[in-house]
Amino acid sequence: MNTNVLQTPIAYLKGVGPNRAETLQSELGIYTYQDLINLFPNRYIDKTKYYKINQLQRTNSEVQAIGKIVNIKTVEQKRGKRLVAKFIDDSGEMELVWFRGQKWIRENLKLNVPYVIFGKVNWFNGSFSMPHPEMELLKDHEKGIKIGMQPVYPSTEKLSNKGITNRVTGKLIQQLFLETSGRFKETLSPELVKELNLISKSEAIFNIHFPKNQELLAKAQYRLKFEELFYIQLQLIAKNLLHKKKIKGYNFNHVGTLFKEFYDHHLPFELTNAQKRVVKEIRADLGSNAQMNRLLQGDVGSGKTIVALMTMLLAIDNNYQACLMAPTEILANQHYNGIQELVKDLDINISLLTGSTKKSQRKIIHEELENGKLNILIGTHALLEDKVSYKNLGLAIVDEQHRFGVAQRAKLWHKNNIPPHILVMTATPIPRTLAMSLYGDLDISTIDELPPGRKPIKTVHRYDSNRLKVFQFIRDEIRKGRQIYIVYPLIQESEALDYKDLMDGYESVARDFPLPDYQISIVHGKMKPADKDYEMARFAKGKTQIMVATTVIEVGVNVPNASVMIIESAERFGLSQLHQLRGRVGRGAEQSFCILMTGHKLSSDSKTRLETMVSTNDGFKIAEVDLKLRGPGDLMGTQQSGVLNLKIADIIKDNDILKTARYHAQRILKEDIGLQKHPIILHALTQLVKYKNIWNYIS
Ligand code: ADP
Ligand code: MG
Repeated sequence: MNTNVLQTPIAYLKGVGPNRAETLQSELGIYTYQDLINLFPNRYIDKTKYYKINQLQRTNSEVQAIGKIVNIKTVEQKRGKRLVAKFIDDSGEMELVWFRGQKWIRENLKLNVPYVIFGKVNWFNGSFSMPHPEMELLKDHEKGIKIGMQPVYPSTEKLSNKGITNRVTGKLIQQLFLETSGRFKETLSPELVKELNLISKSEAIFNIHFPKNQELLAKAQYRLKFEELFYIQLQLIAKNLLHKKKIKGYNFNHVGTLFKEFYDHHLPFELTNAQKRVVKEIRADLGSNAQMNRLLQGDVGSGKTIVALMTMLLAIDNNYQACLMAPTEILANQHYNGIQELVKDLDINISLLTGSTKKSQRKIIHEELENGKLNILIGTHALLEDKVSYKNLGLAIVDEQHRFGVAQRAKLWHKNNIPPHILVMTATPIPRTLAMSLYGDLDISTIDELPPGRKPIKTVHRYDSNRLKVFQFIRDEIRKGRQIYIVYPLIQESEALDYKDLMDGYESVARDFPLPDYQISIVHGKMKPADKDYEMARFAKGKTQIMVATTVIEVGVNVPNASVMIIESAERFGLSQLHQLRGRVGRGAEQSFCILMTGHKLSSDSKTRLETMVSTNDGFKIAEVDLKLRGPGDLMGTQQSGVLNLKIADIIKDNDILKTARYHAQRILKEDIGLQKHPIILHALTQLVKYKNIWNYIS
């Protein structure tokens, strides 16, 4: 089949026309024949099996059965009436029910004649019923062509309103097969097809739409999933390899005095093996002549900051400047203070630049950046402002990546003519499979080990009705000298309400923990940054015992003496947020606790989230569950450039296929980066990229 035919606009397909074409475009993103071919069914109805009535299960699924109608009656109900038929086979009985078209059905249905019925079964009032079944006389059914597995296509309300039902979609695809004679150009090399024992492209496309049996369906699915993942990996890996070749980076070949002195004399603790390994990986990048683009992931508290600092020291040793960007002012402050403390005996200049930096101070920073006096600049988004320009920025570090979009990363990148080395740090560990797909263009380092001596945080779930006990627990902990966080949700849409919750909560805490025995801090987004810092500092110094706050403290805040985290309305937080919040405690030597407070009414997703939190401290496991609950796009908080718009594969479930695809993509590119020896793959890839861009552009 000529590929160009597949680029025919969908409106030209017989049975489509301009109106339906518009609906197909807006609802399903179908612009061309090719897009329709790639509209894969969500599931299949197995019409190869006939159920006995006594085999029916309360799964609300679609089944096929053979039996007879023995009587029909009209039943009056509150609004209108319904037609009810008693349907039996030799194993039992059930009801068939109609709410519409009753007259026609009554006149046409035959009693005591075998029928094949098909539809969804409901369990109602102690018996099974099937509303609006599809019905066919057994004798006609036996004559007809057997469709084994019937595809169910993705659909939307608008599609069915406009008459594009599942049956119509199926018909359109049949028409497309007629017009293209169902032959599709092979898109994988003969070697791959042979080695992986794949079925051909044409066979796969045919069997995904009209599977002859389960086995062929499985083969078709495998082949198409592999192909989809293979081409994504191919693009990501190629990009990465070309990037390494083309994009020259500053060579930090000098491991100089600062790094050595810090390492030998000022490390406050011994690095964990994971930290050592990661520093090594980073050093290899920095000395390689190519620009580093590395993602450093590690659970909360795994010790990423010191790795960041050591990387910055390498930059300074090679006469470059470094910057560190954090998502919130509190966190930027904390990095600034923490890093100042770590390097207080070294001769380096560090400044802090945030939204609340005074104008006069800003001016000095700008000057010192440009004349090179400043070695390290730490700050918030303020670092991205146009006025900020460096003498020679050699390294940019972005902390807590999930708060920044991909675009912002690029913005940092484009501030230099020659791009600085980039290190992105995230505490939302991304499952490896997802990381591979999302960040195939980044190299990944993982700190998979916590510093020694940490006691795992104990997490419990408590209902609001148990508040008194929880307060008593807080009192006991404070008596032992510990500090407490109490966090309230603040979610944009209901900001006023949430704010009231916070204030009410604060007042009730203040009543139960009165002055002068107890000192309470409060921090929320409506406060001036200077006031926030003041309160944070009081808490950090141990002058207050309780910190009432919104999620502003979510990321990165480090107060080792705080050992209890109470999360109010915990059912309203997402999993990764809960995990981040919990990570604020468990930083010192004491046993820490996390208490998740909720009301009694909980959705099943909320229950899963709470149970997950109670059962594990492992950020990677939590991320996996989160991913399953929320879907990958949402997890990242940004629309990821289509990488995750998978048509058939599932990043989680098809993990094994992904690994195989990645392995082969790597193998092929390693020996043949121009794909000169793989013309079929090269052609398919070119088509893919070309048409993807064209249609993205048009839509
Ligand atoms: P995160 O990875 O969440 O940014 P931090 O860098 O803030 O973690 O480190 C968390 C805490 O652990 C800090 O108090 C830090 O000083 C401490 N820490 C980091 N690495 C080690 C280590 N190897 N041994 C002991 N403590 C460490
Ligand atoms: Mg951190």
